[in-house]
Amino acid sequence: MKNVKNLIEQKAFDMAEELREIRHSLHKIPELEFDVFKTSEFIKSKLGEYGIPYKIVLKTGIVAEINGEKSGKTALLRADIDALPVQEESGVEFTSEHDGLMHACGHDIHAACLLGAAKILYDMRNELRGTVKCVFQPAEEGDGGALPMIEEGIMENPHVDGAFALHVEPLEEVGNIQIKDGSIMASPDDFEIIITGVGGHGAVPEKCVNPVTAGAMIIDAYKNIASEFENPCVVTICTFNAGTCRNVVPDTAVLTGTARSLDNKTRFALRDRLIELAETTAEKIGAKAEFRFNQLFPPVVNNADMNRIVIESAKKLDSVKNVVILEKASMTGDDFSYFSELVPGSYFKLGVGNKEIGACYPLHSPKFKADDGALPIGAAIMAQAAVEFLNK
Ligand SMILES: [Zn+2]
Ligand SMILES: [Zn+2]
Repeated sequence: MKNVKNLIEQKAFDMAEELREIRHSLHKIPELEFDVFKTSEFIKSKLGEYGIPYKIVLKTGIVAEINGEKSGKTALLRADIDALPVQEESGVEFTSEHDGLMHACGHDIHAACLLGAAKILYDMRNELRGTVKCVFQPAEEGDGGALPMIEEGIMENPHVDGAFALHVEPLEEVGNIQIKDGSIMASPDDFEIIITGVGGHGAVPEKCVNPVTAGAMIIDAYKNIASEFENPCVVTICTFNAGTCRNVVPDTAVLTGTARSLDNKTRFALRDRLIELAETTAEKIGAKAEFRFNQLFPPVVNNADMNRIVIESAKKLDSVKNVVILEKASMTGDDFSYFSELVPGSYFKLGVGNKEIGACYPLHSPKFKADDGALPIGAAIMAQAAVEFLNK
């Protein structure tokens, strides 16, 4: 690290080796959903070592609170801490010790960066104005841990005024961050369609109502559905299950898929259109479609003023080379949206890519790798953003 000018950045880079060790320790013990007990224990032990007070929420969630010397606003910094049911093939020496599980979405890095930010902010609490809540959140993949933690009251006492989160991006070079005003991530809702027809002998299809045919017609009807909407959305059918043998028309067929949008208006209009098309299409051949919409997280919508704080913070760090303004939102989701629906929020992406070390595979890939050089950058930018927010 050359030419360091910023105290927060200096502290983050002084911790670089420790952050690497933290990340590697967490990477070895990936866990799923709310069952992140070892991960949570590890984070608690580090907070204990740093002397930072914390509360446990929902068994494995943690909220560490740093109170500044002077009173002021409250910033929330969030890291998700759960992993994925993926068999690791990254070849790193600190590979997963839990068979079939992997930190393939980099949440080990998020946790390490937030521990770093927490230590930096705690060390400078005498100069800090206001409070920082560091939220270590389980179950981002899947059912979502943000909403149940919020329901446990973590946004109050003291009341949170603004929230920040980062997510690693292996397809962006280490040293860069990506950010976008407005929608940056989609609502990752999914659905199931149960089609009921009339089964029978495959030799006499005219006596049957074939749910396989109805399923194929629904897939075709959905083909161009996204083009009916002004704002971006995507519908993908991912499974189609029906039948048990080659000469029997089954009674039922089941389709499942994902329906994603970047704003709630499109999201619910899309849902209604999917229901209507499934029902009317199945009816054309006398079948019945029952549509079950599984409403997951809202889209992540960034606040422009909060983004400015992240961008200004990044500019104060020599280790951040470029702030990349994204033109398009990602159609993946993140339940950080529950925080940013309640208070102004900024969700940005931390480049961890480095082709020279093979850190070039996308998130969720069994080959996912990251450049650990991003760890102090992530810690510094989170701490700096919190300070800038509280001082505004
Ligand atoms: Zn993920
Ligand atoms: Zn993730």
